Order: sequence, then C-alpha cells, then structure tokens
Amino acid sequence: MTGKVFLVGAGPGDPGLLTLRAAELIARADFIAIDALVSDEIADRAPKTAEVVYVGKRASKHALPQEQINQLLIDEARKGKTVVRLKGGDPFVFGRGGEEAEELAAAGVTFEIVPGISSALAGPAYAGIPVTHRAHATSLTLVTGHEADESTGIKWEALAQLDGTIVFLMGFANLPTIVRKLIEHGEPADRPVAVISKATTPEQRTVTGTLTTIEAKVADLPTPALIVVGDVVNLHDVINWFETKPLFGKRIVVTRAREQASELKRLLEESGATVIQFPTIEIAPPESYESLDFAIEARFDWLVFTSTNGVSSFFERLFAKGRDVRALAHARIACVGETTAAALRARGIAPDIVPENFLSAALIPHFDADQKGVRIAVIRAAEGRDEFIDEMRRRGADVHLAVAYRTIPVSANADELHDIDIVTFTSASTVDNFFAAHGNIEEALIASIGPTTSEAIRKHGRQPDVEAPSASIQSLHDAVMERLGGG
Ligand code: SAH
Repeated sequence: MTGKVFLVGAGPGDPGLLTLRAAELIARADFIAIDALVSDEIADRAPKTAEVVYVGKRASKHALPQEQINQLLIDEARKGKTVVRLKGGDPFVFGRGGEEAEELAAAGVTFEIVPGISSALAGPAYAGIPVTHRAHATSLTLVTGHEADESTGIKWEALAQLDGTIVFLMGFANLPTIVRKLIEHGEPADRPVAVISKATTPEQRTVTGTLTTIEAKVADLPTPALIVVGDVVNLHDVINWFETKPLFGKRIVVTRAREQASELKRLLEESGATVIQFPTIEIAPPESYESLDFAIEARFDWLVFTSTNGVSSFFERLFAKGRDVRALAHARIACVGETTAAALRARGIAPDIVPENFLSAALIPHFDADQKGVRIAVIRAAEGRDEFIDEMRRRGADVHLAVAYRTIPVSANADELHDIDIVTFTSASTVDNFFAAHGNIEEALIASIGPTTSEAIRKHGRQPDVEAPSASIQSLHDAVMERLGGG
C-alpha cells in the first residue's frame, strides 16, 4: 500500500470556486493539512473519517514551520494514506507549493499538483477589474509585496516601465513602500490602484484610488488583501458586479430544516446574501409506520403528498417492502407545490393535481363538492395543518392520515447569530421552535412565507416585517430582496 500527496489549490475563498478535482480529492482524503486562507466551508467538506490538521496561522492556532509541514506530508503518505495538502488559491502562486513538491520528490513520495483559482485572478474578477484588456493592458505581472523594501528582490525599474497590470500579493502591509518605490522609479503618481480585501467572500471590499491617494483610503481594510495597479482599475466602476448584488453584505437566517433549506439558501446566496443556517427542526422517521403502511396497502382512491419529505419517506417504505410504483397503479395522486411534484416525477409518478402554492388548502378547489365514499390518504408529518382533511371529511370522504415523518426540535449553534439583517420563517413550527430556543432577535427584521406563519410570529409578540405574497420559496426570496435590497 503506497500513499500519495495531493498539493491542492482551494481557490480564493468562495467555495463555488473550488475545482471538481479538489472537491473529489477532499471527499476521499484520509489526511488533510489545511492552510490559513482556506475557508471554513471548504474545510467542512472533509469526510468525518479524515484526520484534519490546521498547519497555517489561524486565530488561536500557531503555524507549523515549513520543514515540519513537509515532514508531516511525507510521514502520512508513507503510512499509505491519501494526503491532501489544501492551500489557498493556487498552490504554486506564492504558496510554497514548489518547495513542498521538491521535498516530496526528494523523499520519493508520489504526488500530484491540483491547480486552484488564484486570488490574483479571482480577486480582480470579483472586483470587476479585468486583469488584461485589449484597450488598457497587454500584460499582467504578479509580484510578491512581502519583500518590498529589500533592494535585491523586486526590479522596481522594470515594473514601473510596464504599462500593463501589476498585482501584488502579500503586499498590503507594505503598501506605503510599494507606492513609494513605484513613484520613485517613474510610475505616474496618478496611476489607478485598487485594494481588494477578503476577495470572493461575502465581506469583500474594493477600494480604488491612485498611487497618491490609495494609502489614506485603505487604513481600516481587513486582510487578506491584494493590490492591483494599472489602468484596468478604472473599469471597476462599470463592471463591479459582485459587491453590487442586491443582498450583498446582508446576513440572513434560514430556519428551515437542513434537509429542506437548500433552495432558499441558494436563491439568497445568488442575490449576494450571507446565509446563516439555523435549523430549529430536523426530519425524523415516524414513531410508528402503521398508518403509512396502511396507506401503501389499502388501495386508496387518492394519495395526497404535501412535501418532499413525505414523498421520500413513502417511497423508501414502499421499496423496503419489496414493492414498487406499480403498487400505486389504481390511485390518483395529488401533491402540494412544484418541488413535491418534482420529487414524485423523479420516482416515475406524474401527479394528477399540483396547485401553484404550497398550502394544502390550495388543493380544496380541485376536489368535487361531493366526496361521499371517496378514500383519501394524506401522507405528511405528524404535525401539520388539517384544513384540507377537515374539508374533505365534511364533503363525505373517508380520509386517512398517514404519518410519514416527524419534525423534531434541534438546537443549532448560536455563535453566528450576530449582526443579523433578517430572519426567515417558512412554517409555524420553525417559528415556535426558534422563539423557544433563541428568543427574539430584536434588531433583526422578520420575514414570513405566508399567513399561517405570520400568525405564529404574532403569537410571539412580533409583527412580520415581510410576508411573501404567494406562499412559495421564490416569493419569500423576492419579498426579502425587495425589502432589503430595494432601496
Ligand atoms: N496561493 C495563494 C496566495 C498565497 S499568498 C493564491 O493563489 O491566491 C497570500 C496572499 O494572497 C495574501 O497576502 C493576499 O495578498 C492574497 N490573498 C489570498 N486570498 C485572498 C483573498 N481572498 N482576498 C484578497 N487577497 C487574498
């Protein structure tokens, strides 16, 4: 058994800029050595079985000296492990990846290099600064600003003569020296400069100026930060697309169960928000399968699905019994909401009725006034609204409630619940659990998906600041955006 080391670029921060190859290797690593600049969201992709070691400087942890990192990689690989060495950006761009690869080669350890998206390119891109442009820059030079004041390192004269773009990494602390050296060697003092802080993250900030003015403007910028010098910086005002997203810089809490949160999270993130997942409920199997089994076996006229959880639980149970969709051939099928319909279609069922909004009451108009003798099974959580069931019973139907799953309260980590702009609620149960677990967040606005949820919010003494006009995730997102991003 021989191990292998992968020197992997983790990209500049935005987890979406991780390469497919990097994601695949992280997912199957036995041992992961992580650098300071790698984002938590990427580190969280490590499998539970992997040993994860932080070797870079992080808030409370100390950096390992380079020789010890090299030795660690070699030792772990020799134990037969798949070792992933995760580095910010690209491993060979001012990342000491070259030195590590040399050591591995000398030790006879097999390795591969997985390039990453460097902050040197992604930072300017997310600031709306094209590093080259036919009209403004025909070259790009990457320079370390780390040794700016050592006379031997950088060829300042040559740099000042280039009229292309210069990107300095590790130069923020030396900005005054960099500016002085460039001007001393003939760079025009009004040359445009940008400093991009925390590039590609929700906290990105771009400050632009000239060699003369930039220093005074960036005093309070946090690191990491990179410096771009060149005429392309002027395009920032036109192309700036990331920091101008409607919800950029907003911190929004999603209280849905993790299993259900992805669509809302994606929509909000796409609009630039930082999404804090704070699930207060979790999906669990029903206490007994009796009522669900009855819905599977007893040949109902209608099967009604009210959520994707109901669909997955129903079909898991069906398949576990050695049955398949043919067991439902006699039944008509209704469901609430497009995502529930999609879950059914994925299992080979085209639902007969799909009302637009996702309240089960929306099904009522689709059923005749006379339901005498009609047998309806409603597949859903133990807790839930009964308007549809009550109405069908009133019309004479024989309605069976099949409990497919339960929602149980969970307590999430409240550390992230600071500086919140808005808390979103998508059901009455998440409202109750959130207020029970966390109380009120007075400074934050509150968004509700619809009237039932709003009612629950009022019971806790708050008035919803935003209510989605139609009870859907998209509508909730749009309403939040209108409120926070509109003006
Ligand atoms: N290998 C990395 C660079 C490592 S050197 C890469 O390819 O991106 C570290 C320097 O990179 C920092 O001092 C800073 O100048 C820059 N840097 C890294 N991540 C950054 C980010 N998200 N925003 C701004 N600068 C960043």
